[in-house]
Amino acid sequence: MRKQFLITLVSIVLGSGLLSAQARETLDIYVVDVEGGNATLFVTPTGGSVLIDSGNGGANAARDAGRIVEAVRDAGLTQIDHYVQTHWHGDHFGGLATLESQVPIRAYYDAGPSVQGQEATVAFLADVYPGLIAKASRTIVDPGDTISIDGLEWTIITAGGDAIQSNLRGGGSPNPYCASWQAQGPDTGENAQSVGSHIRFGEFTAVHPGDITWNVEGALMCPENHIGTVDVLFSGHHGQGPPSPVGSNTPQLVNGLAPRVSIINNGTRKGGQPESMRVILNSPGLEDVWMMHFSLLSGQEYTVPGMFIANTVDQQLDLMPVAPLSGPNETWPDAPVHNGPAHWIKVSANRDGSFSVTNPRNNFTKMYQADN
Ligand SMILES: [Zn+2]
Repeated sequence: MRKQFLITLVSIVLGSGLLSAQARETLDIYVVDVEGGNATLFVTPTGGSVLIDSGNGGANAARDAGRIVEAVRDAGLTQIDHYVQTHWHGDHFGGLATLESQVPIRAYYDAGPSVQGQEATVAFLADVYPGLIAKASRTIVDPGDTISIDGLEWTIITAGGDAIQSNLRGGGSPNPYCASWQAQGPDTGENAQSVGSHIRFGEFTAVHPGDITWNVEGALMCPENHIGTVDVLFSGHHGQGPPSPVGSNTPQLVNGLAPRVSIINNGTRKGGQPESMRVILNSPGLEDVWMMHFSLLSGQEYTVPGMFIANTVDQQLDLMPVAPLSGPNETWPDAPVHNGPAHWIKVSANRDGSFSVTNPRNNFTKMYQADN
């Protein structure tokens, strides 16, 4: 009896192991909730991985690193093969050391030194980052560089304030949205330095631009669109909008890429303002916008249906504002708390270009059929 039980057990375990190994044919992408920062994990069918950014630091490092580790475990990973640091702002690198203490990271990519000189960044680059990269490889990337990962074509499209000037497959046409584009003053902060990525998996394409701002978006998309259109745009800069030297989500970028789906890594009070939502919701070919949080800056007026929003707040407001808040200012209520259970947005892409997006908070999944 016992022997038969063991045989049955072994066959169930082996069977399920085999099943899961065979079952994964998709590129799975976890947009992790790091409360208005960024952490986006890509997992290939063969278990290769790229993580873009690592969320917030300081008192929130354990929270955000923990949420990334949850995604790592859900994907069945034991290490992160490639880590792309978009830029040196604390909401993008803050969780890195805590994360690395729990999950080994094999290769780092960044755009080089900090340009802004914020105290926490300077300390991190002097005291922490050297110890991390000593255990791995580190590459300073330029636009046009590629990251070698099984099953994916991963191209760096922006870095260090510059943009790729060669054409990706599907790129090279004049961008009809450039006529109205005008350069803004220089953005001397870190955002403009962001490492932006283009990801191709068979016929599925996506762009993750980090927090690139106005002039870099123009260099990337005008007068020629070097990228072509994409299936998914991980909306830049937490969905914060134009027009300004430090604004993002220009019509030139968003309309030019013409994503079927935009996914915004906004916070409850960061991103999702009317000016950017107007651009994102108005882009040609758009089917849906998915948001990481309900944004008080959107209000009901500029938000998307709740089924497309991964996280609300721990303390439900009595009344969701119809009009967006236009702050921040001293008349704002206290920031809504969200340190409890957090939900990612998960994309599963197929080689034929079809993909699904899932909101685990309400188990809503939408399938997007291949459009070619
Ligand atoms: Zn940011």
